[in-house]
Amino acid sequence: MSLNHVKSYNEEIRQWLIKVAALAAAIPKGSLAPRKCPVCGAGESSFFADNSHLDYVRCGNCALVYMNPAPDAELVDQGFQGEDELLMEYFSLISRYKGGIPERPDPAADNKLKDIYRFKTSGRLLDLGCSVGDFLHKAKHFYQAEGLEVNPLTAAIAEQHFTVHKGFLAELALKPVYDIVTLHQILYGLPDPVGLLRDIHRILKQDGLLYINTPNADSYAVELYRGKVNHLYGYTTLNLFNESSLSALAARCGFKVLSLRTEWLDIYLSDLTEFYDHPDRFIHKRNCHLPNYERKMAQEDGLQQSLYPDLGRRGNYLVAVLGKADGVPGAERR
Ligand SMILES: [Zn+2]
Repeated sequence: MSLNHVKSYNEEIRQWLIKVAALAAAIPKGSLAPRKCPVCGAGESSFFADNSHLDYVRCGNCALVYMNPAPDAELVDQGFQGEDELLMEYFSLISRYKGGIPERPDPAADNKLKDIYRFKTSGRLLDLGCSVGDFLHKAKHFYQAEGLEVNPLTAAIAEQHFTVHKGFLAELALKPVYDIVTLHQILYGLPDPVGLLRDIHRILKQDGLLYINTPNADSYAVELYRGKVNHLYGYTTLNLFNESSLSALAARCGFKVLSLRTEWLDIYLSDLTEFYDHPDRFIHKRNCHLPNYERKMAQEDGLQQSLYPDLGRRGNYLVAVLGKADGVPGAERR
């Protein structure tokens, strides 16, 4: 069962999000510095959205949506390493709700595996930002799966089952031995996505693959909710990609896009009533104070999957597989 359908989890996440918004509100404006586009370096941009505390702009060149002005990059990195108490509270929360070890999935149908499995059915895989190791438990059935994690609390949990490299990729002397690197919900929070992708390029074999799952700036949900969409809540999102900016990032770092799709509509009727009637207490996908919220969300999830099997480029998350631009990826399996 999805954690989004568990009331106590939603209640704890909602309380945590309220604290995140309070912290975002308390960030002194003077501590924020202007940024150029972290993908293409262009300075020209236009206003995209504000979340009541922080502003987001869209790059006039590559279409990346990014926080501008933004906190110092070093502070962001230190936060992920444990110096941000609120982030640690989140890691502690997800550790408590960590489910049991999943059964062996069908790799051709599993939402997290199918995009990679189309290209590679075996090999050495590194899940970068592996958190408590949920994806590694799925991947281990098909790949030699290892993790990388900068947060000591979640790394310690993943390490009970897997090899986990601790620290930032740029600081670890990993060799170019990997067939696959995966990035699940990592790219949006990075001050320097180009630096990370170049480091990944270095540790991938010539025919290696990079899987990316990250929030989509062109989704229906972003268009509807703008500054109130889940991606822009609080202060943790620095970059919102779309097809264009992700392709620009790939090209700049020596990759080409082999496949790209989007997933999850993330628009629920239960949420819409709160968005229009009580915008002050609306939190996208966490309005668990409403009666029977989780039951309705579960029913709507089922309905949406039958109504919108393909969201084109408008789902709330981008799912991409990249190969090295000069590499020779294996033949695609159909
Ligand atoms: Zn740009």
